[in-house]
Amino acid sequence: MADFETPALREYPDEIPPLRPGATAHVRPFPAAPAHQEPLGFPGELVEDWQARALEKMGDLLGKYRSLQVFLDACVRCGACTDKCHYFLGTQDPRNMPVARQDLMRSVYRRHFTLGGKIAPALVGARELDREMLDQWYTYFHQCSQCRRCSVFCPYGIDTAEISMAAREIMDHVGQGQKYCNEIIAKVHKIGNNLGLPGPALEDTLEGLEEEVKEDTGVDVRFPLDVEGAEVLLVTPSADFFAEPHVEGLIGYAKVFHQAGISWTLSTYASEAANFGMFIGSYENMRRIALRIRKAAQDLGVKRIVFGECGHAWRVAYSFLNTLAGPWDFLDKRYPVPQHMCEVTYDLIRRGALNLDPSANDHMTVTFHDSCNVARASRMGDMPGGQFHIPREVIKASVNKFVEMDPATTMERTFCCGGGGGLLTDDLMEIRVKGALPRMQALKEVVEREGVTHMAAICAICKSQFTKVLPYYDLPMDMIVSVHQLVSNAIQLGTKE
Ligand code: SF4
Ligand code: SF4
Repeated sequence: MADFETPALREYPDEIPPLRPGATAHVRPFPAAPAHQEPLGFPGELVEDWQARALEKMGDLLGKYRSLQVFLDACVRCGACTDKCHYFLGTQDPRNMPVARQDLMRSVYRRHFTLGGKIAPALVGARELDREMLDQWYTYFHQCSQCRRCSVFCPYGIDTAEISMAAREIMDHVGQGQKYCNEIIAKVHKIGNNLGLPGPALEDTLEGLEEEVKEDTGVDVRFPLDVEGAEVLLVTPSADFFAEPHVEGLIGYAKVFHQAGISWTLSTYASEAANFGMFIGSYENMRRIALRIRKAAQDLGVKRIVFGECGHAWRVAYSFLNTLAGPWDFLDKRYPVPQHMCEVTYDLIRRGALNLDPSANDHMTVTFHDSCNVARASRMGDMPGGQFHIPREVIKASVNKFVEMDPATTMERTFCCGGGGGLLTDDLMEIRVKGALPRMQALKEVVEREGVTHMAAICAICKSQFTKVLPYYDLPMDMIVSVHQLVSNAIQLGTKE
């Protein structure tokens, strides 16, 4: 356990906690080294004329993304967002109030891009982009998981996530990048996945899973790799290949494809669904990662692309895949591009193509954590709110005991797990643990009131984050499960043709 205090659980919703100015001013991620920066097209270290280049880049982004300028102009300081961020609630640092985080960029915007700020900076809260400000940007824009919860409560829809992405892009542009994200992106560009797992190691892992499932069930369930002519290309977070509970989800997808008789394959070249290019606000890096999926789909001649359980990957796929790497006119037009694994399973359940026995999960009372990027930045299926409905229907078909957490903490109002947006690194453990507080409060409440034993999620980051932070709140690390882990337990292999 680390050198900080885990915050005490309170009831949710609660009063705005007392302010502790500067409480997390010391928490910042390790900076990227030249070896992490340069493969992404960024300077290796802070450039000499960084201030001029940062302002030039900011002007460029303001011209390119009109939303950024609107967000910086529109705030009326109504205060509706102040207590909506999990990092503020967990740390009590007023700089983690969304409006205060935005103001770090807004004050520089006013100084250099508005008439009032140029003439009378002190009157309009304008500030210079000096070294102190750059350090504050680095600290507090890496204490935002870009979860968009604040935007749900802002009467103007101001999205702090976009401001934080722009700030990170500007910092990368002048050589002030974050090690965790940039090192991972470089691995995807070079090898194809976040882990840097080469093809032969992936092949071995998948063979091991085939043996494991055969031993457990007696059925030959395949985990195919690089199979030309397969119907489905499954793109899944690389954590699914070995981490717990992620891998149990991958086993679930394989069993679903097996029972439905759908031919599928993974790809060595595009062995990663995650796209950390979004976390650093870099369109170019997002595009390079997305183009790997296009090339894999074309080379393998598949008809459909299905994404596994990964929140931000689904956000990038659902919202941007066509712009980044389309058109996808070579795929089967009868299916959405892309499709989520939960949509595939839901559709098969509705058509009676899967035999599920929910009593196989009777040792569990399950709740569901809506992952922020799925909840607030994407959709599933062809109905409004499908991203809430579909995973719940898949869970309910697989378990008998399902319980919702406090509605102030679910669906579009869900709290981030505390590890999203490129914060899932040990150097940010303090902010991760404290940021998890609101979700832990709501979870503890259903554990005590309803006897909940497990919390399911459809995001690789949520699963890794909860595995790590649950023990800080005296909850067992293995209470977090994959949604397709529940399907995997319930599916009756060998009972369908
Ligand atoms: S972490 Fe989420 S709620 Fe907090 S400022 Fe960022 S986008 Fe808003
Ligand atoms: S809710 Fe919106 S308008 Fe109100 S203070 Fe927050 S960002 Fe500004």
